[in-house]
Amino acid sequence: MALPGTSSGLHIVHIAAEMAPVAKVGGLADVISGLGKALQKKGHLVEIILPKYDCMQHNQINNLKVLDVVVQSYFEGNTFANKIWTGTVEGLPVYFIEPQHPGKFFWRAQYYGEHDDFKRFSYFSRVALELLYQSGKKVDIIHCHDWQTAFVAPLYWDVYANLGFNSARICFTCHNFEYQGTAPAQDLAYCGLDVEHLDRPDRMRDNSHGRINVVKGAIVYSNIVTTVSPTYAQEVRSEGGRGLQDTLKIHSKKFVGILNGIDTDTWNPSTDRFLKVQYSANDLYGKSANKASLRKQLKMSSANASQPLVGCITRLVPQKGVHLIRHAIYKTAELGGQFVLLGSSPVPNIQREFEGIADQFQNNNNIRLLLKYDDALSHMIFAASDMFIVPSMFEPCGLTQMIAMRYGSVPVVRKTGGLNDSVFDFDDETIPMELRNGFTFLKADEQGFDSALERAFNYYHRKPEVWKQLVQKDMKIDFSWDTSASQYEDIYQRAAARARAAA
Ligand code: ADP
Repeated sequence: MALPGTSSGLHIVHIAAEMAPVAKVGGLADVISGLGKALQKKGHLVEIILPKYDCMQHNQINNLKVLDVVVQSYFEGNTFANKIWTGTVEGLPVYFIEPQHPGKFFWRAQYYGEHDDFKRFSYFSRVALELLYQSGKKVDIIHCHDWQTAFVAPLYWDVYANLGFNSARICFTCHNFEYQGTAPAQDLAYCGLDVEHLDRPDRMRDNSHGRINVVKGAIVYSNIVTTVSPTYAQEVRSEGGRGLQDTLKIHSKKFVGILNGIDTDTWNPSTDRFLKVQYSANDLYGKSANKASLRKQLKMSSANASQPLVGCITRLVPQKGVHLIRHAIYKTAELGGQFVLLGSSPVPNIQREFEGIADQFQNNNNIRLLLKYDDALSHMIFAASDMFIVPSMFEPCGLTQMIAMRYGSVPVVRKTGGLNDSVFDFDDETIPMELRNGFTFLKADEQGFDSALERAFNYYHRKPEVWKQLVQKDMKIDFSWDTSASQYEDIYQRAAARARAAA
């Protein structure tokens, strides 16, 4: 184990738009706290910088207090003051930035989806770096995530390195290449980046139109670029890269796919306080007790204890295979199972469509659609369900299939991205038996999905002993951050060593 302050203990700062459980929209939030905690456990000094959103879960922060210092930061030709708050989330020290800017950037009652997101997050990226610069911290690694903080990479090397703040190396993780942060080139100037210098095909100009592309900028300017699974890292080198494939190929030497882990403290059925009864692989009584409890809570039929319950917890966006999720509801009903969907959609017509399906099944006590975000309920559904579907069109990593397995819910997933790296088909004889942990399908159509779900139902009904062993095996798989955090540690150490050598 490395100790902070020793030659092998690194000072790592994550700059991000989300962190679980204080400000969570999706998997990015889980990664910041999960990876952060794992690196901290390995002896590194880990700090996080987040916006101070009005809508965050303030009760998840310990010792929240405002610092005496005010950080002045550049934006659109002026300087603006920023209050800096500190607190601890999940044992990790966090800086929260509260801009004193008339745009009230983080007082919007939501995290994303504002007309000026580009401005909001370029502002935040600039203050985050300004805070590090003014604090005089000797940071080894600045790790930024997704387009919202991708500005950090060019800002660091084009602005702050020139001021002598250059000891750190930049790691950028793209959690989803669907979101690249593009804007008219002149918008780059808001945060002090030089438009003329950066609006070039080998720097930040988008590969297919005249706008600038922030994720491209981070690929070009970072020392390390990662994405969240090895299969997705392959996929984005072709069409999956959504226009950035050539940029990734040019920078392939610094690009690697590392599978996310899950936070095994948060997601632990033997200690989970959201569950009716805690349980473990060796004592599955609690799993059926949670199923009974959820059925009661959602007023579902409980006539048949062994009627399989299929779960799905997701953002309802096209990426997640909404047409297959819709189909799965009908297919599960046809197969005589029960289905619980927990999901909400930022896309109004998808939200409406699922509200329509929910109405249609209102009087069917085997189907429940809960169209909202609800952390507590998500824990209950992972625990109560027997199977868990993730029929994504593409999936950079996906966390729910891993969480499901930890809770003994067998995944039925499409073979893509991180799903392909974490779920191995139970019937695939080319894979060693000890790795087979779920049911997969390749073609993104109803037949493909049906073949996997039907096989799962068959085992469940006809071979209950085999099913039980599969459940127990899945619960014992190590999805912790340990292995993946070691991979990050390794690439950080190599980048830091190069930085020391250069100095
Ligand atoms: P993505 O980041 O694309 O949304 P992931 O599978 O990586 O997908 O992570 C999703 C995370 O968000 C998981 O922790 C999942 O449990 C959680 N989640 C998604 N939708 C909901 C919801 N409606 N209510 C509660 N938690 C949700």
